[in-house]
Amino acid sequence: MNDKIQEMLDTIQRTAVQAGDVASDAAYGVGKKAAQLLSTAKLNIRVCECKADIAAAFRELGEMLYATHAGSPTDSDDLLHKLENIDALKAQLNTLNAQLNRQTPADAHTCPICGSAAKEGDQFCRECGSPLAPKTEETSAEGQTASAEAQPQSAPADEEQPTATSEDFVD
Ligand SMILES: [Zn+2]
Repeated sequence: MNDKIQEMLDTIQRTAVQAGDVASDAAYGVGKKAAQLLSTAKLNIRVCECKADIAAAFRELGEMLYATHAGSPTDSDDLLHKLENIDALKAQLNTLNAQLNRQTPADAHTCPICGSAAKEGDQFCRECGSPLAPKTEETSAEGQTASAEAQPQSAPADEEQPTATSEDFVD
């Protein structure tokens, strides 16, 4: 194997432990910001930005590797910096995804507080009583059909129905 590339790979292995500390610091920084309750939309934007940054960082790393192969050895500190940057970005991405996963279950009929499963149409959690997030448009459309079928059994306002239908026929 090319000596310069071997040296580069050795550098990568040597620096893996140091990079872990940097990554956890970065995750802590994102965690503090996330505590300010980012909306799902903002989180999605940040995830996209983070992925783009990671892709760019990998591209730079690949260019470094090729430059080393082509005869322009990479400076170890420069390489270390790039690797730490990727570690930090990946830690950020993990934190953002964890935040998103904590928020999306509400849409999937899961209690945002205790995480227990909620049934379609539930407004409050059956376990802890927390209010559940409003349903999305798609699921509420299905819910309307289901509740319309269920109504005759439990509808309290029987008297209003004949009035409404008779008004419909009046010109
Ligand atoms: Zn609950």
